Amino acid sequence: MDYGLTCPTCGKRYGSDFPGQTCGSCGSILEVVYDWSASDGFDGMSTSFWDLEPALPSGKYHHYEVGGTKLMSASARPNLFMKLEQQNPTRSFKDRGSVIEIAKALEYGYSDIVCASTGNMAYSLAYYSRLAGLRAHIFMSKKANADKLRMIKSLGSATMHMVDGDFTAAEESAKRYAAGHRAFLTGDYCYRKEGQKTMAYEMLNQLPNATHIIVPVGNATLISGIYKGLCELKMLGRVRALPKIVAVQASGSDSLVTAFKSGAADVGYVRPRTRADAIAVGLPKFGAQALEAIRRTNGAAVAVTDPEMRAQQREFYNEYGLVAELGGVASLAAVKKMRLSRSDRAVAVISGANI
Ligand SMILES: [Zn+2]
Repeated sequence: MDYGLTCPTCGKRYGSDFPGQTCGSCGSILEVVYDWSASDGFDGMSTSFWDLEPALPSGKYHHYEVGGTKLMSASARPNLFMKLEQQNPTRSFKDRGSVIEIAKALEYGYSDIVCASTGNMAYSLAYYSRLAGLRAHIFMSKKANADKLRMIKSLGSATMHMVDGDFTAAEESAKRYAAGHRAFLTGDYCYRKEGQKTMAYEMLNQLPNATHIIVPVGNATLISGIYKGLCELKMLGRVRALPKIVAVQASGSDSLVTAFKSGAADVGYVRPRTRADAIAVGLPKFGAQALEAIRRTNGAAVAVTDPEMRAQQREFYNEYGLVAELGGVASLAAVKKMRLSRSDRAVAVISGANI
């Protein structure tokens, strides 16, 4: 769909020909704003990623395999469903955002992209970079998951830049690299959020009367994307009441949970201490938007410990024969701490399985 970009901080507007994702004046992450009057009868009724293209930023897409993941019911709980995002090509939800970012990089004439990652996003971007013939410059902490690092390298499309310090330090390095080279800065920015929002469309088409959507939170791009998708579905008349959005973090990386419980308007930095690397983010970039998503839907924020995630990971495997990473089953671990009634219909997002 035709769109523009606006800066939520200083209000500056950009056309879709602007080749970036952050404001040229103040550096804030831009927001994609659509002209819904041009949506031409789009009703949001599909569980296939590319059928939802009318709700995505206009562009030249290659329709790589992505999304359309299964919603599976929990065997022992009639009110619980699981969105299996490990069915994406690189086994995490990140692929949904990557296909949009890769298309935009090509559209703006870049041959290189750059991103900071704890692992899954880099793997996803390197995978689609290989398909698109782009070179991916990946900035990762030297302490990042060694298995994920090997997987990224094996694709052959990535140049690795290993950084001292945590994800936040890697991110600063990635931004500096993008500023000094001709490379499209990708990551947890506005185009990724648009791709991620497709999960809301799929879930509500698979379970129209969902009452809760339970989402693991790293940079909070997914949770804010899901909220944006739900709002669009409401505008399109597909849902009357929005499901409650429940954010899940590791107790050792719980900046959003702390901010929500204290009533704060934004999220403060918490040094991550968790083995769940996919959600080990000290300062979620979309933290303020995530708080808005939780509050506007009367949702909740739940912290789960590493031992709880580990136990859940084993249980998930024993029960379904399916593998998921610690952050991937954080949502299921959170369900155990929530009080769901018989009439509730909750969807737990299983975000990834790269272990
Ligand atoms: Zn600005």
